[in-house]
Amino acid sequence: MVYLNGNFIAKNKASISVMDRGFLFGDGVYEVIPVYNGKIFRLKAHLKRLQKSLDSVKIPNPHTKSEWLDIFNQLLSHAKTDDQSIYFQITRGVDTQRKHSFESLTPTVYIETNPLIPKPKQVLEQGFRVITQPDIRWSRCDIKATSLLANTLYAQNAKEQKMEEVILHRDNIITEGATSNVFMIKDSTLYTHPTGVNILSGITRDLAMESAQACGLTINESTFTLNKLLNADEVWISSSTREVMPIIQIDGRTVNSGKVGQYWECVYEHYQHLKEASE
Ligand code: PLP
Repeated sequence: MVYLNGNFIAKNKASISVMDRGFLFGDGVYEVIPVYNGKIFRLKAHLKRLQKSLDSVKIPNPHTKSEWLDIFNQLLSHAKTDDQSIYFQITRGVDTQRKHSFESLTPTVYIETNPLIPKPKQVLEQGFRVITQPDIRWSRCDIKATSLLANTLYAQNAKEQKMEEVILHRDNIITEGATSNVFMIKDSTLYTHPTGVNILSGITRDLAMESAQACGLTINESTFTLNKLLNADEVWISSSTREVMPIIQIDGRTVNSGKVGQYWECVYEHYQHLKEASE
């Protein structure tokens, strides 16, 4: 069951016009929200970021907060398990002819939910391998836009090389992952790229920093180089569906001892408490 423009229908019955600007131009924005134990995690923060993305590309928000919640809950009532991720996207809508400029259209809303299966701690404790690549994306990475051509190329590269993620650098500065935020820990300080146009301000990024602080780390939202990353005590990535993941190898080079670090262990536990305490 999916949601498309007011209707709850089977996924294979959901279709949109070829004149939808989401199809023609990738002219839309999206969000992904995890649901744990039937409860939507950090809904307010996700809807706030959605509003920011919509405002940035001048698409009107088609729903109020309570309307979004109502639609999500209706969709979730059809889900078979309590842990889900909600994917929802809003495109500018269906035009009459293909042209780059736009007028006021009725936005297209598409929502699907998928089972979310967090990796067990024993699996996470093995750590993950990543590669690095130059950040070739545009200069508005703060907008969660559906036009993700560069990101699909990164994801394919990672898949072909059996890597968890591609970590991106712009002018030798680490920005973020192709689908995640990046953190490095050095001498009990956590570093992560500051928010701004070069990264997506991850909801999990905020939660990771909250957890890191609770675990005794000093937080420093400032840039760092690829070389610093390679010499870090610990490296993590974060996203709504992955939570906080420990990285033990970058471009074939071992991070520290190659074992998952003590701060990650602490942050993992703290994050689980945040999930359990969510309302
Ligand atoms: N950065 C990028 C480029 C992403 O695509 C994502 C998530 O998909 C994130 C960061 C992490 O954001 P969040 O923690 O809100 O899922």
